[in-house]
Amino acid sequence: MVKAVIGLGSNLGDSKRHLMNAVKELNRYDGIRVTDISSLYLTKPVGPQDQNYFINAVAVIDTGYSAHDLLDVLHQVENSHHRRRIRHWGERTLDLDILFFGNEVIDTEDLQVPHPEIVNRAFVIIPLLEIDSSYAMPDGRYLRDMIPGLPEDDLRQMRRLSYDCAKKPDTLKLKLKNAGKNCSFSASGSVSAGENSGRAGHSANRELVCDYLTVKEWFRYRTVLKGRKV
Ligand code: ADP
Ligand code: MG
Repeated sequence: MVKAVIGLGSNLGDSKRHLMNAVKELNRYDGIRVTDISSLYLTKPVGPQDQNYFINAVAVIDTGYSAHDLLDVLHQVENSHHRRRIRHWGERTLDLDILFFGNEVIDTEDLQVPHPEIVNRAFVIIPLLEIDSSYAMPDGRYLRDMIPGLPEDDLRQMRRLSYDCAKKPDTLKLKLKNAGKNCSFSASGSVSAGENSGRAGHSANRELVCDYLTVKEWFRYRTVLKGRKV
């Protein structure tokens, strides 16, 4: 069994539902057990800016598959969500990437692991730190030490979709345990880093942030997931 980390993203259709169903579908494969999922995050798109914000999350799995077989499975699940490749880094119903595969370093034509873009992507680093604040690259570099190098604007505009933000936005406490003083979550679900602390993002989609029903389901599923295959 290898512990691997999958990045999930969507900005077409019912994105939260795409992510939720993708996790469930992955968990149904014999060779995969999803052991943890991060919160859902609303994030600024990389690449073309004339597209919706993304919903992103990461999932930690135990897998008996090889990395290439796992990639095939991810493509199957993407296809079942009618994923179409429209343009590079463009809109998609579902994007599933292998971020880490144990401590393996893979550099083949169709698969690079760790995913080469990890160091540039707040929407990968922050959710993974939420699950494990001591996560490190195979070469030993801690993910938490990469926060200061992340694009400031991406961090500023990122929103963690909180379980009950629609009910009590001011009282919710979302703390990133031990992730280092450079990064924290505010009560409203915004993420701040370093000198950005306290500055609220401006263009995140409030409607999405407060549409908490699927988010609630996601959190419930996360609780159920811990320790068993469901
Ligand atoms: P992106 O995720 O960069 O937007 P795609 O999802 O369209 O791009 O993937 C394009 C190709 O990237 C895939 O067909 C796959 O062969 C390749 N690829 C290379 N490394 C990885 C990885 N770590 N995880 C997922 N796909 C990868
Ligand atoms: Mg991809």
